[in-house]
Formats: sequence, C-alpha cells, structure tokens
Amino acid sequence: MKIGTPKEIFEGENRVAMTPESALQLQKLGYDCAIESGAGAAAGFADALYEAAGVEIVKTAAALWKEIDIVAKVRQPTETELKRLTKGKTLISFFNPAGNAEGMELAKAKGANVIAMEMVPRISRAQKMDALSSMANIAGYRAVIEAGNNFGRFFTGQVTAAGKVPPAKVLIVGAGVAGLAAIGTSTSLGAITYAFDVRPEVAEQVESMGAEFVYLDFEEQQQDGAATGGYASVSSPEFHAAQLKKFRELAPEMDIVITTALIPNRPAPVLWTKDMVAAMKPGSVIVDLAAERGGNVEGTVKDEKVVTENGVTIIGYTDFPSRMAAQASSLYATNIRHMMTDLTPDKDGKVNHNMEDDVIRGATVTYEGEITFPPPPPKIQ
Ligand code: NAD
Repeated sequence: MKIGTPKEIFEGENRVAMTPESALQLQKLGYDCAIESGAGAAAGFADALYEAAGVEIVKTAAALWKEIDIVAKVRQPTETELKRLTKGKTLISFFNPAGNAEGMELAKAKGANVIAMEMVPRISRAQKMDALSSMANIAGYRAVIEAGNNFGRFFTGQVTAAGKVPPAKVLIVGAGVAGLAAIGTSTSLGAITYAFDVRPEVAEQVESMGAEFVYLDFEEQQQDGAATGGYASVSSPEFHAAQLKKFRELAPEMDIVITTALIPNRPAPVLWTKDMVAAMKPGSVIVDLAAERGGNVEGTVKDEKVVTENGVTIIGYTDFPSRMAAQASSLYATNIRHMMTDLTPDKDGKVNHNMEDDVIRGATVTYEGEITFPPPPPKIQ
C-alpha cells in the first residue's frame, strides 16, 4: 500500500506529517511513500531530501490523494480534502471529531476510515502516538521563548560591571504537559519560576524541576481540582476565589505569566483578570496558551499580540507548534509512524485496522461506513 502526505492548506501552517526520516521507517513497514511537491518546504524539508529517502514526489494534491491508500496530514481536513477520500482509504490526521460532525458524516459517506490523532487514548502504551502531548510540549517551550523575545530583560540574574540585574520572576498557571515544558524552559534559562495547578499531585513534579509550587490559603486544596484520568475538574466558587486572591497578590511581582489551564470539553477558565493585568509592571509579558479555547486571561486576543495601556504585552498566538515547524513535524511524523506500526503488525505494507485494539479503536472516528465516535472508554488505564 502507499502512504502519502499532502501540503497543508490551512493558512500559516508550516508543519508536515511526513519527514524524510519517518518515510524511511514507513518503508521498513513495507509501505511505498509519496508526498505532494513542496509539502515539507516550510518545515525545512525540501523535495530533494524526500527523494533521497525514496519518497515519490507528486505534483498536485489531487493526483496525490488519488494514488495513495493512506493519507497522513496535520490539520483537520477541509471539505475539499474529505471529498477526495474514497472507499477503504485511511486518513490519519487531527480531526476535531467533537466539533466536526459534518466531517465525520462526509468521511462515513465516502466509506473512508478516519483516525483522529487527538483521540489517541492517553495510556502508557500509546504515549509514542500522543500528538497532543508532543505538540503541547513544543507550545510550552515556545511560549517561554516568545515571552523572552518580548521581554526587554534577562531571565537570569547577573552581577556585571555595569550593574546588578535581578532574575526575572515567571509564573506558570497549569502544570500539564505544556505547563511542565514551560517550567523546564523557564528554570533552565535561570528565571525564578513559580507554578500553580488545581491538581495538588503535580506539586512534587513542579518542585523537582526547580520551580516553586504556589499553595493557596484554602483548606480543601487536597480534595479540590483533580478529576479522573489526570485531568482537572471545574473548581468550586470558593476555590476559584482563593486562587484569584493569590494571583492578585502575585501579579505586581511577576515579570512573565504563562497560562495553560484547561478543563476537558469546556471553555478555558478565566484566571488572570483585567485588574491583575493592570497591576503588572510595564514591560511584563503574558502568554496565554489557552487562547484557542477562549483564553485564561482577560484581554487575550486569539492569534494576536496586544500591548495594554500599562505596557503589558499579552500574546494569544495559537500556532506555537507551527512556529517550530521542523521540530514539530519531526515529532508529529514520529507519532504517525508509531500509529502505522500498530496498524501494520506484520510489517507487510498492509493496514490491519484492528478495532479490538484499545488504542486503534479509541482513535478511530469512522470505520467501514459507520461513525465510531465517541469510543468506549479504554479497558487498560
Ligand atoms: P490540559 O491541557 O487539559 O490542562 C492543562 C493543565 O491545566 C492541567 O494540568 C490542569 O490540571 C490545569 N488546570 C485546569 N484548571 C486549572 C485552574 N483553574 N488553575 C490552574 N490549573 C488548572 O492537560 P494536559 O497537559 O493534556 O495533561 C493533563 C493530564 O494528563 C496530566 O496529568 C498528564 O500527566 C496526563 N497525561 C497522561 C498521558 C499518558 O499517560 N499517556 C499523556 C499526556 C498527559
């Protein structure tokens, strides 16, 4: 069978779902590989690099979709792309199934099998396919770099002949995958780093990375915040008030605030209010990684950078992985390649779409003319 990757058509998307390296691995599974000409260019992978890795270069998207059996891409496919699917083809991509009923209907009508990368169950065995985590890790890292780029000072404290420089103080709100990556980056740049999460079990992890966990004056913190599967639940009004009170105290001291707080299937909680932004020093920077889901910060504008009247920069970009397209493509292509490994147990270049497999079943949203979303909960945790 042949697996291929078209050029992403979403404006500003620089990532690509197949790299020359992942193509070599896919060939070891018995597949022929193809790519639309120029698909890797924005991520730094020229056609010649693919050719050298044994990948066929196809001139147009239409011709590519026609000749391949498995389509690997990054962004949720458009209607035009979905219309190119035919019976028995497999599509592996981010798909946003919860918000994409039309896309699922179209794929079902075409008889195509769709694997949605955001649906890969977050169990240990599937970590190597967990594209949400690999992209969140990049977003967390890049958020700190972006903040540093907009912050007119050092992260690390210095004593120089020209004067003493205090270290920057950085607060990370939400210590999930992106938050932990941001903490690691911030501490390694030498900032004094604080972190808060509603799940108290992350405190130890935060501290082991050299940051200080922010505790609230709230008796029930130990019982609050953690829902099932390592995710957060909605905070009680009392807990939320205690959290905001603490943030109000911290706001005048913090140079950089990076917010990453999310609750599954809900809009992002608002945690950094207008008065906190107003209390920050001029030159401070906020990066709101929750901007896609409405933002954790009052004043965030999705996909924009705004500077407030008191000189605080608020960054609401939602394309951090695409801003590190080479790295993001390498990791995402590896996630896809691992998915293909599980779909090809005999390494014979043929997809064995085993719906008894928890991971494959969990990620499959259409299969043999049926919509199979939402999946049953995985048997193994
Ligand atoms: P996420 O992106 O859904 O949320 C980010 C963080 O925001 C979470 O840590 C959450 O607790 C926090 N948060 C929510 N409301 C908050 C509030 N009001 N104030 C402060 N923080 C708030 O989470 P994620 O990064 O996708 O990961 C969530 C969990 O899943 C973690 O426990 C992680 O270890 C786990 N996980 C497991 C696997 C695996 O086993 N394969 C893979 C990835 C993640």
